[in-house]
Amino acid sequence: MKLLNYVCDRWSEGLGEGEPLIDPVRGTELARASSDGVNFAEALEHARTVGGPGLRALTYAQRATLLGRIAEVLTANRDTYYRIALENSGSPRSDAAIDIDGAIYTLKFYAKEGAALGENKLLREGELTRLGKDESFQALHIGVPLRGVAILINAFNFPAWGLWEKAAPALLSGVPVLAKPATATAWLAQQMVADIVKAAILPDGALSIVCGRAGDLLDHVTGEDAIAFTGSAETAARIRSHPAVAHRSARTNIEADSLNVAVLGPDAKAGDPTVELFVSEVVREMTVKAGQKCTAIRRILVPASLRDPVAEALRARLSRIRVGDPRTADMQMGPVINKVQQKAVLEGVDRLAQESAVIFGGGVAFQPIDADPSVAAFVQPTLLAHDRPFDARAVHTVEVFGPVATLLAYRDLDEALRIARLGQGSLVASLFSNDPQIIESAALELACCHGRVHVVSEEVARVQTGHGNVMPLSLHGGPGRAGGGQELGGLRALRFHHQFTALQGPMQSLRGIASRAADLRF
Ligand code: NAP
Repeated sequence: MKLLNYVCDRWSEGLGEGEPLIDPVRGTELARASSDGVNFAEALEHARTVGGPGLRALTYAQRATLLGRIAEVLTANRDTYYRIALENSGSPRSDAAIDIDGAIYTLKFYAKEGAALGENKLLREGELTRLGKDESFQALHIGVPLRGVAILINAFNFPAWGLWEKAAPALLSGVPVLAKPATATAWLAQQMVADIVKAAILPDGALSIVCGRAGDLLDHVTGEDAIAFTGSAETAARIRSHPAVAHRSARTNIEADSLNVAVLGPDAKAGDPTVELFVSEVVREMTVKAGQKCTAIRRILVPASLRDPVAEALRARLSRIRVGDPRTADMQMGPVINKVQQKAVLEGVDRLAQESAVIFGGGVAFQPIDADPSVAAFVQPTLLAHDRPFDARAVHTVEVFGPVATLLAYRDLDEALRIARLGQGSLVASLFSNDPQIIESAALELACCHGRVHVVSEEVARVQTGHGNVMPLSLHGGPGRAGGGQELGGLRALRFHHQFTALQGPMQSLRGIASRAADLRF
């Protein structure tokens, strides 16, 4: 089976043999993807000239209704998506839920937020501001939808959520979408788009998908397009420096790799419930989706006095995780996405192990449950430790995209915060503490180099949403090596798909325009 591409409102098969999509447990081929023969220039132009006007003819509330209908269709087809996630990603049901149900939740969220923007077609930020000597000449900041295409280039680990968390704000803004999922797991995204196209929800030209390599896609971007990329720092650098992107100043939002930290506060004592909470969260982050989450905890910071008890607790918990074929009941962790990724993770562990001690796992000869290691792509959960974090380099610079994390001991809070910053900008830092003063000072200190600071105290233990869980209400993205991008954050996401302009002119005219604009309040 070759995955069909959908551009210019037509399905077509890519040329040539294409790239195989593999079952990472059984090693069998599931499908192929090829973008050869896709005319990207035509695809983008069709989206701009047909999809854009069709979407912009609608109000925010009308487009929000379309998002709600997309969510309904995806909900009705959930079983198919779970089966694809099992076969193509080796996902246990709980992992698939994060991707698939997370996508549906995000769509529903934007459907609700969009409805609140009402029957308007432009946005207003703030009030009229007097510029001249008297009231008659004023300024108004408005946002109008971009006239280009939202080009969504996604990573392999979230084929469903990655697509819809980007597509929902774009479509709500009135901007057509061209999705380019990662080849290795494109099947799920492609099936979802096929279901939405079949349901005829969106205007013509509003949604396209190309499976397979990006080819000359970026050669055809214009200054009116917006590229939302998620993936590795290397690919991000290639996209940023692509001549067409750079010369035409196409908007780019980059979500790249990240060396997230979890900090156990200096107020923690052995035996505290907070220590148990911390250990549970670290184990969850290491094993959910086999650690293939951009937000996963990579660096575990604990007070030196708790280094040994925490190491022991983590070892005990990790040794009980059932790793193997997710078709077998009660399996807790599946494989990484393919053999290439397995090799990359094991090489990454070797790199870390040159400086840090492996204190659990790391086994190249690991035997997963009910799977043949010669064809399957499993990696044993692996914990390393380093007692002099300032002497270690790899742990602060190498992202190992698998079930791998390193325990680092610190002497005092100031040192912990300095270690956190060695990650050079990350998506998430979590802090586990019950001391309000520590929480306040550390949270503000961590904020400069993290897109999200997630604080857990005993008081919020039962309601907190999880270190690695990306909620559409909160910003997602991070500075520095995390890519410098920002997604989600409620209606903040709409700024990326609008041109914000300062209108300066007669107060009466500006008032007229303001009355037709939705107030962009976060
Ligand atoms: P990747 O190899 O960089 O690929 C990402 C996407 O870029 C894929 O769709 C890929 O297509 C495409 N691509 C590759 N070369 C390209 C080029 N020259 N021009 C245009 N597109 C190109 O990343 P990955 O291995 O799929 O994902 C793992 C990485 O993503 C990790 O580093 C992880 O931290 C990061 N990630 C970050 C976030 C976040 O929100 N910050 C979320 C998830 C993952 P092909 O698949 O066809 O090569």
